[in-house]
Amino acid sequence: MKTLEFVVRDIPEDKIARHEVSVPPAEVDLELEEIQLLGEIHGQIQLSRHVQDVYVKGSFSASVEAECRCCLEPVVADISGDIEVQFSPTDMAIPSDPWQIDTGERHYLGDTIDLSEEVRQSLTLEIPNWSLCSETCKGLCPQCGENLNVTDCGCDVPEEASSPFAALADLLDRSDRTLES
Ligand SMILES: [Zn+2]
Ligand SMILES: [Zn+2]
Repeated sequence: MKTLEFVVRDIPEDKIARHEVSVPPAEVDLELEEIQLLGEIHGQIQLSRHVQDVYVKGSFSASVEAECRCCLEPVVADISGDIEVQFSPTDMAIPSDPWQIDTGERHYLGDTIDLSEEVRQSLTLEIPNWSLCSETCKGLCPQCGENLNVTDCGCDVPEEASSPFAALADLLDRSDRTLES
């Protein structure tokens, strides 16, 4: 049984059950190649049940490692996400629409609810999509590929050559001249 699975009949009826959980990273696959979970996901969960409907609220936090977009060094970020979802039972083997984002309603099959998909989605939303190791990251040398934050490789890189617009500016300059002549 996974940490984020709960047996419905074990959830107290019309009362709130609180759980503190530490979820091993293997249980929640963030499905992002460049992002790694560092250690466990910590969460506080509140569960309550009315007959067979289960109401869940929770907040989760984790540390992830990403790559600096500029110098490719690892960057650690702390993320947290909240979930709020209501589960109701279904007897369909494959519910036609098991996940309804708008309403926060889900169906469960059998006697167990599984929160791992909710947790995955809430955390994935919080991952910064443009991570930098620092605001002033110097990136990699365009000539030799050294990390300019740690070494001064001494390459003589002309100022213009490092700008992606340099080539375009060059081109415009030349077409100007052609027009004149
Ligand atoms: Zn960097
Ligand atoms: Zn260099």
